[in-house]
Amino acid sequence: MDLTSCPECGAVAEVQWRHVLESTDGPVEHAQIRCTSQHWFFLPVSYLSRAGIPGRPGRPSVVSRCQG
Ligand SMILES: [Zn+2]
Repeated sequence: MDLTSCPECGAVAEVQWRHVLESTDGPVEHAQIRCTSQHWFFLPVSYLSRAGIPGRPGRPSVVSRCQG
């Protein structure tokens, strides 16, 4: 399971699935994510924040909060 940060609220978001879509610039991998506040997005994986992804398995997941 991949985790990222919600673009809207910054909460931990789960990558539910990924799919490669053809574009004029070639195939672009997209992902559907849903955060703990039930926001969901379908966007290119390059838009995903990596702030919430643990570096290594077994380490605690620390979520960066830029706002608040
Ligand atoms: Zn959210």
